[in-house]
Amino acid sequence: MPERSESDSRKLLKRLRDSLAEPGQGQDRLDRITHLIADSMRSEVCSIYLFRDTETLELCATEGLLQESVHQTRLRLGEGLVGRVALNGIPINTADAPSEKGFRFMPETGEEIYSSFLGVPIQRVGEKLGVLVVQSRAARQFSDDEVYALEVVAMVLAEMTELGAFLGEGEALSALHKQPVMFRGATGQEGSAEGNVWLHEARVVVTNPVADDAQAELVRIRAAVGELRVSVDDLLAAQSLDKEQKQVLEAYRMFAHSRGWLRRMEEDIQAGLSAEAAVEKEQSATRARLSQVPDAYLRDRLHDLDDLSNRLLRILTGQGHDTGAEMPENPVLVARNIGPAELLEYGRKLRGVVLSEGSVGSHAAIVARALAIPLVIHAQGVIVEALNGDPILVDGDQGIVHLRPEESVAKAFREKIAMQTQAQQRYADLRDKPALSLDGQTISLQMNAGLMADLPSLEGSGAEGVGLFRTELQFLIRSRMPKRDELAQLYARVMDAARGRRVAFRTLDIGSDKVLPYMKPQDEPNPAMGWRAIRVGLDKPGVLRMQAQALIRAAAGRPLTIMFPFITEYAEYISARAHILNQIDRESAMGHPVPASLEIGAMLETPSLAYAPRAFFEATDFISIGGNDLKQFFFAADRENERVRRRYDTLNASFLGFIRQIIARCDETGTSLSFCGEDAGRPVEAAVLAAMGLKNLSMRPASIGPVKALIRRTDLTALRAVILAECDKGVETIRPAVMDFLAKQN
Ligand code: PEP
Ligand code: MG
Repeated sequence: MPERSESDSRKLLKRLRDSLAEPGQGQDRLDRITHLIADSMRSEVCSIYLFRDTETLELCATEGLLQESVHQTRLRLGEGLVGRVALNGIPINTADAPSEKGFRFMPETGEEIYSSFLGVPIQRVGEKLGVLVVQSRAARQFSDDEVYALEVVAMVLAEMTELGAFLGEGEALSALHKQPVMFRGATGQEGSAEGNVWLHEARVVVTNPVADDAQAELVRIRAAVGELRVSVDDLLAAQSLDKEQKQVLEAYRMFAHSRGWLRRMEEDIQAGLSAEAAVEKEQSATRARLSQVPDAYLRDRLHDLDDLSNRLLRILTGQGHDTGAEMPENPVLVARNIGPAELLEYGRKLRGVVLSEGSVGSHAAIVARALAIPLVIHAQGVIVEALNGDPILVDGDQGIVHLRPEESVAKAFREKIAMQTQAQQRYADLRDKPALSLDGQTISLQMNAGLMADLPSLEGSGAEGVGLFRTELQFLIRSRMPKRDELAQLYARVMDAARGRRVAFRTLDIGSDKVLPYMKPQDEPNPAMGWRAIRVGLDKPGVLRMQAQALIRAAAGRPLTIMFPFITEYAEYISARAHILNQIDRESAMGHPVPASLEIGAMLETPSLAYAPRAFFEATDFISIGGNDLKQFFFAADRENERVRRRYDTLNASFLGFIRQIIARCDETGTSLSFCGEDAGRPVEAAVLAAMGLKNLSMRPASIGPVKALIRRTDLTALRAVILAECDKGVETIRPAVMDFLAKQN
């Protein structure tokens, strides 16, 4: 096959566009296109595979393969060479396809006679739409120019697919944006919601992928890049930035000014693409690279480039965030990821949130929990499929999302929501009743909080107080370090809202997954076991002191409760406590009233602390078990890692034995003990903890009703006997026996 020139590529694109402009059904168009490409590329075969659903590719048109195989031949994502091109988003170019790893022989297509294979992804800004393939008999590698030309053509096909050019009347060659799709993700926040899609980032629509006048397009792209550069320069100049922030923005600026980036887009335009399509082509290539890069720093920088491409597209198309689309009723936010501040801005008007990325411990998840909005994370592919206004069901309990659901699914789902609402009503009726067990034990149920958005739940949930106030959330949702007076005002509002109920303020717990945007990230090999929480507080006590001052001022003579996160040994508690006591003296000397009473506690989140000297248990005013961290260290199973985080059961007899030891040690010294990990909010786990002697449980506000309802139906003494008997038997988990007992008593 002879080498191709740039003008060949332009000619092909023009023929393509003219062909697309002719009337005809989607299938006719696809057939014409495959013929055109095969002819222009002088290859015997050209085939177009499009996604039928997110996992399946279908041969939709071909020149050269057997026509009977069209709409019959299907491949799973990753299957065969075509499936691999789709999966990785990068071309495969081989002279000897049959001996290539993963080659799948499809006898129905008659393709065995073709040796050379070139497949390029049909994708639009990382959205996988299909694969474009050319094949020829002669065993030869396609040239770089040919690969490039086919990529340019694929870019145009992607835009046309997106615009529905291949859909005939009543036919749906690609199921994208049309059919019901289910996404299996993970739970970020429980709860169910029905609503309509609201895309956080509006999709930019490109209607002119092919351009006649390359000169005009070059002028446009240069002007747009110029505008982009000025806006990034302004960003750098306008802000009062610290050194680190400057460094990040400098890297961003460097990309905006990168000659290579502009040069590649200019080449795409020379090959026949419009300025917009050129930006998208390079952006797609960046995204494909992004998924292959193992280095986190480089990945972040490629994200910068991705972000710049979005800005550039908006400049070119004039389509900003505000596309004029109206937020639908009952909006369910769909996004790749979202920051905590942005999510807070949407606030409670959202019915649900679906993210294609995200993590359970992410700040967005924390905010969603505070707002009690059902959240599903890791719903891969959802941003490709969802369109503004599409009906959507969010099942936060199962981590499942139904987009454009069948009526039967929607009906079943509505029934589930109705049942949940009924249950909530029953719990509301329990609000002012105590968590009193059948055998007369009263358990104190408190709530976890951290945002102002949590405060209304103090009244609504029936919580006796705040067992854990995560102060770091106020630091995480800001773009700069909060000031002492700002914090003092905020803590005062929390205490006002608590109306005399106890609030346990936990000092800053950062590090690990909680990284402050304005602090230098520590590149630690194992951050969960790294420089985090009180370790940072003791090594750099400025913030700890500032927080102590803010809390003392907020209390303004009222009782004050402070606890330290992640205490690992006795000495750490003593040092941290000394900081607080010093600040009390200092504030008092400055004329501020001292708290009426002061409780200083420690969170027990590392196994070592369970074995601390007796003096530790005597010295602390109270201990709160941080079950999330304690469990991850007990089982050596990362709480952030989806693969292992559910692997070990809380009702594992060894873990419960360990909790019993902690309870016994606190009993010996009369130290007050509570439990504030997620397990406290799971009714069965909560009942077991209560039966074992944990009299104070702190949980998400929404869990208080269900936990209270179960405790009120349970004989905790009898349950304790079951637990001890099971543990004595040497079973691994006591769950079956506990479930059996609970089922029988109700
Ligand atoms: C815990 O570890 O159980 C806890 C309550 O703290 P956090 O989840 O904030 O780490
Ligand atoms: Mg913790």
